[in-house]
Amino acid sequence: MHPWTGQVVSVIPGKGEVPRIQDGITGKLIPSLTGSQADLYVCGITPYDATHLGHAFTYLAFDLLVRAWRDVGVTVRYAQGLTDVDDPLLERASATGQDWRELARSQTALYKSDMAALGVIPPDAYRGVVESVPLIVAAVERMLGAGQAYRVALPGGPALGPDSGLGDVYADLSTDRWFGSLSGLNRETQDRLFAERGGDPGRPGKRQRLDPLLWRAARSGEPSWDGRSLGPGRPGWHIECAVIAANELGQPFDVLGGGSDLAFPHHEMSTSHSRAIGGLEAPTRLTMHTGMVHYLGQKMSKSVGNLVFVSELLGRGVDPAVLRLALIGHHYRTNWEWSGRELALADARLSRWRDGIGAVTAQLDSTATITKIRAALANDLDAAAAIAAVDDWISTASTGTDRSPYAAGDLRRAIDALLGIKLY
Ligand code: ZN
Repeated sequence: MHPWTGQVVSVIPGKGEVPRIQDGITGKLIPSLTGSQADLYVCGITPYDATHLGHAFTYLAFDLLVRAWRDVGVTVRYAQGLTDVDDPLLERASATGQDWRELARSQTALYKSDMAALGVIPPDAYRGVVESVPLIVAAVERMLGAGQAYRVALPGGPALGPDSGLGDVYADLSTDRWFGSLSGLNRETQDRLFAERGGDPGRPGKRQRLDPLLWRAARSGEPSWDGRSLGPGRPGWHIECAVIAANELGQPFDVLGGGSDLAFPHHEMSTSHSRAIGGLEAPTRLTMHTGMVHYLGQKMSKSVGNLVFVSELLGRGVDPAVLRLALIGHHYRTNWEWSGRELALADARLSRWRDGIGAVTAQLDSTATITKIRAALANDLDAAAAIAAVDDWISTASTGTDRSPYAAGDLRRAIDALLGIKLY
């Protein structure tokens, strides 16, 4: 699937530092890459309600990482998934009387246009689940063959066997001795979150309550695909990301990313599946989770209905650069409350920057400021500190007397390359 079209990114002199990222497992700051290549997999949207500010906050965080990596001079390989068939999508389509394919198509198009407007560098590989079904089927077949998965008869359906139903397929988590190491949660919390976030702990016939669905056999009224020996059906959620990431990036890859609400069960389960696929204890070097954006006192979510959409704000005339600046000013790991006042603050700041850079009146070298921006981003993507460094330069420059358009040009390019804000 084609991602969106990216904007031209400025080139700046020198090189950035390797960003150190707080690992979601250990909590330690560790270098986000080790060689001359950096690999990133980020879970994509389920396209039935795109793109709210929580989504935008997440993808902007990974965009900062991609920009910092490019500034180091390494080759970046960025893969992002798209859950273009799943229960919530089918439920929404059914509730609104839409064809699920049309709903997915329209919301994916909206998401892409929002990402392009916000200046997010597109992933190198943007892969939908639907186009990845043959790969997923092959992975589930291998897991069944290796004893890492098993079949469960359908509720009210025929018993399992060659002449009757093939059933659903579940992963057997007891075959993964490292399961649980990613989230570090106790079993009680795992069980609760699994039930809250799409799992089915009480499904009769499962070996363990937490065993996740790998392949859902076709049901009446639901879309299905050829599953070869699995029978017709569709993939479970977690195996999709494991397969797409392994196919695009290989194993191990550097960073697995997404919102913090994906840590369990989604990333725990998909990492378990990645171990089953590749045989490595640690298929990912580090996990990076973004905080939740709240609004009206609660996490912004589809189920609560307190969503603020990027397209709505842009439709009301908000400059996408202002929205971008407002969002990246919050550290990516924090949970924070959107009030709307951020827009006025970011708008005033962007005007100061544009005016200050455009009419710089000081013989003021920007090299030190660019170094500060790079250092801030290398420190767990501290964009707020980078923004403060630009603020300092602008306020100092506005008090000087000499003209130095070259210095301003380098800084303008750095703000574009590293923060994704174009000051023209
Ligand atoms: Zn995922």
